[in-house]
Amino acid sequence: MSDHNFTIEQYLEELKPLINVDCGTWTPAGVSQIADIMTEKYQSIGWQVSRQSFDEKVGPGLLATNKPEAEEYDIMLIGHMDTVFPEGTIAEWSMTTDGEQAYGPGVADMKSGLLNMFKAVSQLPEDVADRLSICVCMNPDEEIGSTYSGDWLKSIAMKSRYVLVAEAARADGSLVKARKGLAAYKIEFKGKAAHAGNEPEKGISSITELAHWITTLNRETNFETGTTLNFGVVEGGTVGNVVPDYASAVLDIRFWDNDDYTRVEQKIHQMQENPSLQGIEITLTREAHKPAFTPNEGSEKLMAVIEKSGQDMGLNITWQAVGGGSDANLTGSLGIPTVDGLGPIGGAMHSRNEFLVLNSIGPRLTLLKNVLINLSETITR
Ligand SMILES: [Zn+2]
Repeated sequence: MSDHNFTIEQYLEELKPLINVDCGTWTPAGVSQIADIMTEKYQSIGWQVSRQSFDEKVGPGLLATNKPEAEEYDIMLIGHMDTVFPEGTIAEWSMTTDGEQAYGPGVADMKSGLLNMFKAVSQLPEDVADRLSICVCMNPDEEIGSTYSGDWLKSIAMKSRYVLVAEAARADGSLVKARKGLAAYKIEFKGKAAHAGNEPEKGISSITELAHWITTLNRETNFETGTTLNFGVVEGGTVGNVVPDYASAVLDIRFWDNDDYTRVEQKIHQMQENPSLQGIEITLTREAHKPAFTPNEGSEKLMAVIEKSGQDMGLNITWQAVGGGSDANLTGSLGIPTVDGLGPIGGAMHSRNEFLVLNSIGPRLTLLKNVLINLSETITR
C-alpha cells in the first residue's frame, strides 16, 4: 500500500482505537468516543464537523464536510459508529490480526469503512476537493435500524446527488446495489386470566390469539416474491392451569416490494382491529422500518461510474442484491442514487468470527477515491 503513504501496520494501528472500545448502539459513551476520534481526524484535514444529538440512549451523529457553506452536497458518504456488541465485549475479545485478516468487534462492520472513507476524502487531489461538496455522515444507531438518526440522514440525503455507503464489501468482493426492506413489530396480546379447571369459560386466552396470528401471517410468506415473515420470539402465560392473560411476539418482515409490505401491514392492522377472540386487546409497536431499495435510473449511472473506476485499476466490480438492511435503504428508497458496500472486504458480521480482509483495504480505498474523482467529472453546474 505504498501508494497510500501508509503501511498495513500503520493502518491497523489507526484502526485499533476504533475497535477496542465498547461501542454497541446502547453504549452511547463508547459511540461518543468513536465520534471524538473521527472529529479529530476530519478537523485535522480542515473539514468542519458538527455534532447531532438524538436521544440520551444512543450516541451522537457526526456530519463532516469540506464545504460548510454548501446548501447541497454532490456526494454524501454514510457510515455508522455503533456495533452490535454489548458492553463488556472488549474485555473478552479485542482486535487481533494474523497477517491475512484482522478480527474484532466492528472490524468490518464498519470501523474499517469509517477509516477508508476518511482516508479516501483526505487523499483527494486538491482540484477535485475544491470542485466537490462532500459530506460524511456518521450515525450512532444503524444496528438497531437507525431509529433515532434515520430522519436526519434522509434530510441530508434529500440535499445530495449521490449517496455512497461504506459498509463492507461482500466476502466475494461484490458491492451492494439493492437491499431488502425490513419491518419489525412487537405485538402484545392482553386477554383475561381464569382458572383452567374451575371456570375456563371466563378466560380469554392471549396465547390462542397469538397462535392465530402466527398461523395466519405465516401464510403471507412468499419465497418467490421475497416477502417473508418470521415470528422470532414468543412469550406468554404463567402456569399450566391458568388461561393466559398476556402473550407477546416479535415479528420480522422482509420484502423487495414496498407495496407488498404495505399490503401485509394493512392486514396486520385489520387483525389488530378484528381479533379472532372477543375481548382481546392487541397492541402493535413497529420498532424498526426500512423500505427496500432497488436501483433506479440514477443509480444505474452511479453503478456505471463505479464499474469504470474499478476497470481502470484492474478490479472487476460485481454486484449483489442482499437481504440485510442498511442506511442505503433509507436513501435509496427516496430515489436518490445510492450504492453500498464501498468499504473493504469482510464477513461473519455480528458474530465473534467477524473478519476484515487485509489485502482488500488498499484496493477498496483506491476504488472509493477514484469513484469520487470520476463522479466529480460527471457533475456539471
Ligand atoms: Zn454495518
